[in-house]
Amino acid sequence: MQPPLKSLDYFQKSYDIRVGQLKEKRARGTKIIATFCLFVPDEIIFAAGAGRLVLCGGRTDTIARAEQSLPRNICPLIKSSFGAVVDACCGGNLSCAHVQLVDVVVAEATCDGKKKMYELLPEYLPTYVLDLPQKPGSPEAITYFLSELRKFGKYLEDLTGNAINEEQLKKEINSSNETRRLLHRLFDMRRCDPPPITGSEVLQVMQKQFFLSPDQFREGIRQLCEEMEHRIPPARSGPRIMISGCPMSAGNTKISDIVEKKGAVIVVEESCTGTRSFWDLVEEDKEPWTALAERYLRIPCACMTPNDQRISHIVDLARRYHVDGVVYYTLQFCHGYNIERIRVQKALKKEKIPLLAIESDYGDSDVEQIGIRIDAFLEMVS
Ligand code: SF4
Ligand code: SF4
Repeated sequence: MQPPLKSLDYFQKSYDIRVGQLKEKRARGTKIIATFCLFVPDEIIFAAGAGRLVLCGGRTDTIARAEQSLPRNICPLIKSSFGAVVDACCGGNLSCAHVQLVDVVVAEATCDGKKKMYELLPEYLPTYVLDLPQKPGSPEAITYFLSELRKFGKYLEDLTGNAINEEQLKKEINSSNETRRLLHRLFDMRRCDPPPITGSEVLQVMQKQFFLSPDQFREGIRQLCEEMEHRIPPARSGPRIMISGCPMSAGNTKISDIVEKKGAVIVVEESCTGTRSFWDLVEEDKEPWTALAERYLRIPCACMTPNDQRISHIVDLARRYHVDGVVYYTLQFCHGYNIERIRVQKALKKEKIPLLAIESDYGDSDVEQIGIRIDAFLEMVS
């Protein structure tokens, strides 16, 4: 067992500092925007002088609160997120540190469950919904999304009282690209055999990405990369596994923990808490609004159709990271990722890469059963 990476402490410490910073900023009049999804461009929020935090829930204890109004048979991420908002706004005691800091939620038209949950949110927090074309490959999609982004920009200008100028927007694009490049550096090191960091460690970092300030996050990634460069890798590791599928929001580390406790090493995550958040950069030489629209519409989320780009990205990652098998993770009742698994499995089969499909919620009643299935899978791919 290797000693833990010291730079990981940085992320927890920075998280605590960040809560205080956002409180102060808000007291001084800075508007704080909460988001739930990668499709809302940070660059526009920051260019308007606002702060940003994430409300995407991975906690299990807020679900019961949500189930008092939402149906039980929807995705746990939606219930957890909604439950945290309702609890915090109705004087509950689950203490979500984020909700009290929020001025406006910027939601997005992605899956049905989220869209309908967003119709209930305004009862608790002011909510703006960014619309998305659902067929990103169609010629009209960019034009429409571009107009939506400009409308969103105008909304933020009115909210903050700050004009978004092109120069500031370009600065924010460069800043976000710098973060993306650093994450590529971090993920590249995981191609080593054995990798100098575990998947559970990377997940702790990625879950902080949308809460820390960009400067804080980048500083942490730099420190982590430097430490990893000097870390003596373990003598050997188990099978190399890719996790692919639904996001693992803060509080939810279940599948990564089980996979690595069973002796495998996760070398890459194709998810919103993995490559999907940083893989593509925004073109820096282009007109910034168009460059943003193009980059964000390329996010390979299963809410989009057809989603060929995701299938080829997964195959590309499997080759690049020399994976022995893929654990395909779906949150319960997430139909998009669940159904898309069929195409992913077919594409991986052609590459002779086995896939294990796991559907789960945030509870721990299935931990043992998942462990047994993962044991059998790892034995097969070893
Ligand atoms: S899976 Fe899709 S809808 Fe969910 S957070 Fe990621 S990009 Fe957004
Ligand atoms: S995991 Fe699936 S069902 Fe849940 S919010 Fe994301 S896209 Fe929607």
